[in-house]
Amino acid sequence: MTDRYAVIGHPVEHSLSPAIHAEFARVTGGDVSYGRILAPLDGFRAAALRFRDEGGKGLNVTLPFKPEAWQLADSHSAGAAAAGAVNTLKFEGGRIAGHNTDGIGLANDLRGNLGCPVRGRRVLLMGAGGASYGVMEPLLRELPLSLIVANRTEEKAKALIGHFEKLSAELGIRRFTWLPYDRLENGPFDIVINATSAGLTDAMPPLPRRVFASGALAYDMVYGRTTPFMKFAAGCGAEVADGLGMLVEQAAESFYIWRDVRPATKAVIARLRSGQ
Ligand code: NAP
Repeated sequence: MTDRYAVIGHPVEHSLSPAIHAEFARVTGGDVSYGRILAPLDGFRAAALRFRDEGGKGLNVTLPFKPEAWQLADSHSAGAAAAGAVNTLKFEGGRIAGHNTDGIGLANDLRGNLGCPVRGRRVLLMGAGGASYGVMEPLLRELPLSLIVANRTEEKAKALIGHFEKLSAELGIRRFTWLPYDRLENGPFDIVINATSAGLTDAMPPLPRRVFASGALAYDMVYGRTTPFMKFAAGCGAEVADGLGMLVEQAAESFYIWRDVRPATKAVIARLRSGQ
């Protein structure tokens, strides 16, 4: 019998997840179908439970429903608990397990695909929204030398730091704090991650030019377009990457949670990049 999965969001028609999971199913040989569910903004819970009751095995959850998915889950993985958001639901018997695979996706992309380990490096994370909460725990567990958060709205940066301060202290991270954009001059940073949505409107955070260390990586979580941040970073001599690898890696982690099989990702990333 075919195992059914889907991505649920609003909007959802742009999602690459069906193409990614179709490829995973092909290479792992599973009998899998993976669809899209456009849930009304006030109808996430009903749509998710309907899918489950009709035999669905799991859902990927995208904007704006990740906090609601956390509420729906009966149990939470450590990553989901830390983030307060769920992007992967697994329906097992009568129970619903909630996971967050965004951070593992980012860490695996940095380490495995881009050859850029976080351990011992100076990291700047821009943005203090859902994506930053999602990636923070796995990023800290990679043991950076320091991790600085910058965000347009300072209160949100402070709240993000406050949320993860205890974990950072437990892990012995030397410097874990927030800074306003105009105080980043003294960086420099080895890895600069753009977890803001600025690129979606062709904007970018107000970064000083001297933010990048020699050989730095500039990583934009946005994919499918060259953002102003990516252009700026390239002009400053940084290596540049978009968030496509993270998207595929988080999908692979979801697939593993659902099916206990870890699909290879490199060929899938290459195929999506070449538009095949
Ligand atoms: P969100 O919760 O809406 O947060 C947006 C963040 O962007 C906030 O910190 C906001 O700052 C900041 N921001 C927006 N416009 C800005 C601008 N012009 N200048 C400076 N800062 C700006 O969104 P999110 O869920 O965190 O998602 C952020 C991005 O990550 C999205 O583009 C999403 O597509 C991407 N993402 C990618 C993946 C992947 O797999 N590749 C996974 C998850 C998310 P304020 O607090 O000041 O408003």
